[in-house]
Amino acid sequence: MICMIPLRRNLLSFTLSCVVLCTIPSAMNAATPATDKADATSSHHWAIAIHGGAGESEWEHMDAATAAAYQASLTKALAAGAAVLQRKGKALDAVEAAVEVLEDDPLFNAGRGAAFAADGTNEMDAAIMDGATLSAGSVAAVQFTRHPIALARTVMERTPYVMMVGPGADAFSRAQRLEQQPPSFFFTEMRWQEFASIMRQTNRTVPPRPAGVGPEPKAVPGSNTAPSKASLSAPFAIPSSNPPIFAHRFGTVGAVARDSEGHIAAATSTGGMQGKLPGRVGDSPLIGDGTYASDRSCAVSGTGVGEYFIRLTLAREICTLVEQGQSPQQAADHMIHTELPGLKGGEGGVIVLTPISDPIWSSNTLGMFRARQIEGSAPEIHVK
Ligand code: ASP
Repeated sequence: MICMIPLRRNLLSFTLSCVVLCTIPSAMNAATPATDKADATSSHHWAIAIHGGAGESEWEHMDAATAAAYQASLTKALAAGAAVLQRKGKALDAVEAAVEVLEDDPLFNAGRGAAFAADGTNEMDAAIMDGATLSAGSVAAVQFTRHPIALARTVMERTPYVMMVGPGADAFSRAQRLEQQPPSFFFTEMRWQEFASIMRQTNRTVPPRPAGVGPEPKAVPGSNTAPSKASLSAPFAIPSSNPPIFAHRFGTVGAVARDSEGHIAAATSTGGMQGKLPGRVGDSPLIGDGTYASDRSCAVSGTGVGEYFIRLTLAREICTLVEQGQSPQQAADHMIHTELPGLKGGEGGVIVLTPISDPIWSSNTLGMFRARQIEGSAPEIHVK
């Protein structure tokens, strides 16, 4: 492989450029459809990738109309991020813009359309990180902010902290005059029925529908609220692991971007796992686990069963491997196809880019909603 030497001003960038370009993997896993072309492109061009979650069962049954709806949603979110970069905006603004579009979209498990905790509330998590400065902000278990990613950024920019959680984070959001919404805003019938089904499968009581939400539509099949056997007293009952507590579903959202100055950023937003115990926090808002960005290595946004990402510090680990000389694709594939499944039950995917190489992705699930665009190229959208 020819080692190209990009025209970079500082030594660190020079070294990283050379290492990354010299270590492009010779074979790509079938589940990681990034092309050699994308991985090998080195430039100061802007680039962005987004994801809308990874999962299994939903892809087995997806009809053409549903796939088209996801395609349109991903296209819109990618365009919002790309527009920021096209006008020479910051990577940080681009990832926030893309994620906000996905948070507003009821198809995804973030913001409107978020999953439900076992008490029937939405507890949303989000994180954002600026690779240029290593500044980061995150929130967990927030319930009323229309755009949790904007709250994460506000924590980053207006407090000395990295992370705020629960009622304190909600109060901070109100004090900062971020847009607040009631539970009925975040509610979608599709997500509620998915939640109710998981509660029944795990032998737990389905809680009452959130305040302000209308009665259950009569036509929803299998929507009676009785559990199959004697019910555990929700919401803090711990369900048995068979059926698995981690009935992972698609829909977490994230973005990574590089701006025309060569800086990178990452953002992730989620409602978490359906039927989680109230107070459970996943990987998405944890810096280094589901979200990470450093101009010295890479930007990562992940999706999958958060407990495994946390135990592997997965996002930071990918960036460490990149710092050590692996290509982003090699590093991501190692973590997603070797380390993650090495922990029984570890499933999910990531999107990754570096200051000098274009976005790639890797997932060990049947499907992952994802899209990317590189300056001068057409958007690329994948619904499966
Ligand atoms: N990683 C998220 C969590 O564990 C869920 C997901 O990505 O689907 O909360």
